[in-house]
Amino acid sequence: MPSRITNFPPVGGRLALNFVNSLHLSESSNLADFIGFLQVSGVVSPERGAHLLNLPQTDQRTAETLVSRVARLGGVLRQAFSAMARKEKIVSEWAAPINEILRITEGHDELVLENGEWRLEFMAREDGLDWLLAAIARSAAEILVEGPAARLRVCANPGCGLFFSDVSRTRQRRWSSMARCGNRHKVAAFARRHDSRRRAT
Ligand SMILES: [Zn+2]
Repeated sequence: MPSRITNFPPVGGRLALNFVNSLHLSESSNLADFIGFLQVSGVVSPERGAHLLNLPQTDQRTAETLVSRVARLGGVLRQAFSAMARKEKIVSEWAAPINEILRITEGHDELVLENGEWRLEFMAREDGLDWLLAAIARSAAEILVEGPAARLRVCANPGCGLFFSDVSRTRQRRWSSMARCGNRHKVAAFARRHDSRRRAT
């Protein structure tokens, strides 16, 4: 079953932001959407993803635990990222679910070359299912530690709610994506100008 978010471009620019965005778009936490997100983000291979989709049949309890962890982490990250975007304080309770995952996940950092730039990527040990959330928790922790330097913003379209890291050269990115929100805004602004001009004549 293809996930609805499979075709959505990762506008957040950071794994944890894309994770929160994907939950926002799917509007409920279900295993298929989460696995779809992991596949699109390259956290799991398509083969591994297909295998994980069978989890509710093979181990229903583990599947339910995973879905509830996804929802809990997603909820707390949305609160933390919203606060950051509004330049408000991060409440220490929000760190608990992130720390929980960091605590139980063993892994190591690896150098990864992407678009000509080197970065450190966390590689979790692949036993148990907590490792599926490990890279997301790590990414979230990095964003929280970076603070204002992460340039976390929320889309200027009030109906959108997607987060992104503004790494544009001008530091004035306003939209989750031009196609999704920017162009719509431009069209609406043009229509308003056009309309008022018509009324004026
Ligand atoms: Zn948007």
